[in-house]
Amino acid sequence: MKKESLPMPRPARPAHSATVTASSRISRDMVRVTLSCESLDYTQLNHTDHYVKLLFPPDGASYAWPFDPAQIREELPRDQWPVTRTYTLRSWDAEAQTIVIDFVSHGDTGLAGPWADAARPGDQIGFMGPGGAWHPEGSHIVFAGDEAAAPAIFAGIEALPQDATAEAWVEVADAEAHLPAPSHPGTTIHWVDRNGATHGTELVRAVTAAGVPSGDTRWFIHGVAEMIRHLRRFLFVDNGVAKPDVSISGYWRLGMVEDEWQASKREFTEEVEASEAQAAANR
Ligand SMILES: Cc1cc2nc3c(=O)[nH]c(=O)nc-3n(C[C@H](O)[C@H](O)[C@H](O)COP(=O)(O)OP(=O)(O)OC[C@H]3O[C@@H](n4cnc5c(N)ncnc54)[C@H](O)[C@@H]3O)c2cc1C
Repeated sequence: MKKESLPMPRPARPAHSATVTASSRISRDMVRVTLSCESLDYTQLNHTDHYVKLLFPPDGASYAWPFDPAQIREELPRDQWPVTRTYTLRSWDAEAQTIVIDFVSHGDTGLAGPWADAARPGDQIGFMGPGGAWHPEGSHIVFAGDEAAAPAIFAGIEALPQDATAEAWVEVADAEAHLPAPSHPGTTIHWVDRNGATHGTELVRAVTAAGVPSGDTRWFIHGVAEMIRHLRRFLFVDNGVAKPDVSISGYWRLGMVEDEWQASKREFTEEVEASEAQAAANR
């Protein structure tokens, strides 16, 4: 009898090593870190939402970068495994072999935000990835997001053809926190200031008030999870926008560290989809 061959385990993807070459505060609440990375295949970077998973040793870990994440998972208990934080490649320079990441500076809590606040040339960090799947297509795009999505939104605007048009809704804390943004002839950037409101609520108000454009439109909407729930309802239930025209996801969630958000994201999405189906059925 022919022996069934077992599927080969997928080889662990190697982690990349990166060294900080520059860091600067590009706005009150955003820190830009440039890193050199020789191992990244820059020829494979074709999207505007490319992201990497930065690797952080958990509190009290007995190791520091450089380390082999696969080996640590094999040898140490789970609570000592490296923790990941997801960040967009705002830009990259294949010739110089550098990447640029813009970090929201959101206080003393968390790993990545405080790491970026303190980053200095020579600091080293590892990361997995990159992933990413979206780049602008179509003649009109609506972008919407908070500060965490601003790097992907701005990378998207920079990649727009000259004759495309776009509206970009970017939520920030207040008028003092507006970000340096790219200019494109057909694109209007609308700053949405929270001015003390809960993350996402002002963005939902602005985007829903603007309505759905009449012509062919693609959507790129990312940021705080609560905002995603409302804008999905607005697009898919209230306006019947086709799902393939929309890139929409929660990048982070209020009161949750990224590990908690990633672990609960599937349940969140299933619950949101179920309530959309219910709302559609009740129409
Ligand atoms: C595909 C993708 C791309 C992303 N790209 C970027 C990017 O380019 N730049 C960027 O800054 N973020 C980006 N994010 C969001 C980022 O991964 C999260 O904000 C992450 O939680 C930050 O990690 P941390 O260690 O600083 O905070 P955590 O340890 O995860 O959280 C600590 C506390 O801070 C809160 N918190 C987390 N993020 C924010 C925030 N933005 N504002 C206010 N409070 C916050 C949490 O709710 C929690 O209470 C991206 C996320 C995804 C999924």
